[in-house]
Amino acid sequence: MEIGATEKKASEGRLKVALLYPGTYKEAISSLGHLIVYELLNENPDVVAHRFTLESPFSIEENLPLKAYDVIVVSVHFEPQLPKLLSYLSRYGVPLRRESRETRIILGGPGVWNPYPSSAFADGYFIGDGEDTVPKLPDFVHLPPEDWKMKGFYSPWNDEPTSFSYHDFSRSYHHILSDSTAYGRFPLFLEVNRGCRFACRFCLIGWTQPQRNRKLSQIVEIMEEHFSRGAERVVFMGSDVLAHPHIDRILDDLAYFRIPFSLPSTRLDKLTDEFLSILGKAGVKTLTVAPETAYWKRKLFIAKLIDNESVVDAAKRARSYGIRKLKLYFMVGYPGTTEEEVKALIDLVKEARRYIMVTGTVSVFVPKPYTPFQYLPMERIEETARWLKLIKKETHLDVMNPKRAALQALLSIGDRRISELLLRAYKNFNYHYWKRAASEMGINIDDYLYGSRETPWMEKIRTYVHPRGIKEGFEVALEVMN
Ligand code: SF4
Repeated sequence: MEIGATEKKASEGRLKVALLYPGTYKEAISSLGHLIVYELLNENPDVVAHRFTLESPFSIEENLPLKAYDVIVVSVHFEPQLPKLLSYLSRYGVPLRRESRETRIILGGPGVWNPYPSSAFADGYFIGDGEDTVPKLPDFVHLPPEDWKMKGFYSPWNDEPTSFSYHDFSRSYHHILSDSTAYGRFPLFLEVNRGCRFACRFCLIGWTQPQRNRKLSQIVEIMEEHFSRGAERVVFMGSDVLAHPHIDRILDDLAYFRIPFSLPSTRLDKLTDEFLSILGKAGVKTLTVAPETAYWKRKLFIAKLIDNESVVDAAKRARSYGIRKLKLYFMVGYPGTTEEEVKALIDLVKEARRYIMVTGTVSVFVPKPYTPFQYLPMERIEETARWLKLIKKETHLDVMNPKRAALQALLSIGDRRISELLLRAYKNFNYHYWKRAASEMGINIDDYLYGSRETPWMEKIRTYVHPRGIKEGFEVALEVMN
């Protein structure tokens, strides 16, 4: 059941938009970015946007096929959604190469902020925040794509330089409420800020998104509006939620009114007794922390300085506030990983387990565009697999598949040649299949993963950080490890 979906019929719109999420309904309805784009389009009386997911070739709102719509807009949150998207479109008869298609396809979201790996397929890209650019869609979509030029938008048809669009948070939002989300029944997705004040060298958000806080009055307005429509809980969205100047007050009020909430990962510098007591009062049972590494030199390398003692201290203190579980996120796969580094991770998990139940995930480093580590080669797959096997055996944490991480990296820091590879190999997102397909095309994927890297997106698309600052971030990191 949903509350707040558009009631407009496709026949009522001057422009009919198929808004596609390359995942399941549950994933789509749990993505605030996707829901905001839906609202941005439908608030224009001349536009009708209806949703599609990979589970059906028909729109959720009206059961119409893709071909009943004028343009397809897609939210891409993670790079591995691209091959899924292409499989779906080709299954339902949409030509994939942009030159052979009449229906225009526009992508947006952090999975395509480097547009080159999908540029043989897509006609255009919303780059950065969509609030100021998505509403302009009806003004330009009828023009030849060679003429699509504006700030915060890139088109491979003209390859014109552009820059990220940054919204100032002056605008509020209303999203659909659903009883079938990844976060339970009828959550309000509350975005109190966007961006992050830290700049961990691997992190796309930290390097492309300046931190902006939403005004308290607007947060209250969003809560009142969604609770009056049937929201039952609050899911805080954002990378640095706890940096909001009024977050303690907001959480305290929610706890007082017994409104359940969940938080993304917590910075340990925020974990005062007062804050833990608010979490305890609200019935929070899991504390999520992302130290990324337990090895001090690696902490300096990635520029994320969460010390191991603080993690163990959090494990000790959380119990006394009724929190039962500590969820930890780590990342391995940097070149030159040592046994000492892996052992530090295992020891930290074991130490924290003396005080609280510990679960978590160990992911593999995937270089991201616009970050200092866009220049950093990955560790060889076999080597990372060896370390992950050891970590899994000793800690039982979930671990990522390093071959999958390698493919994700190609779609993250690839160029136009990788977009040709995507068109050829999308049907089987398997490392050996892609490697073979690449080699038949004369592409050596090892050059992309392990060699020194070209960064063509830096020539065309600017973030708020000067390219020199990004390069310096990389050079400083290398000095740390030398
Ligand atoms: S990893 Fe987390 S703390 Fe670091 S820059 Fe990214 S969002 Fe911020």
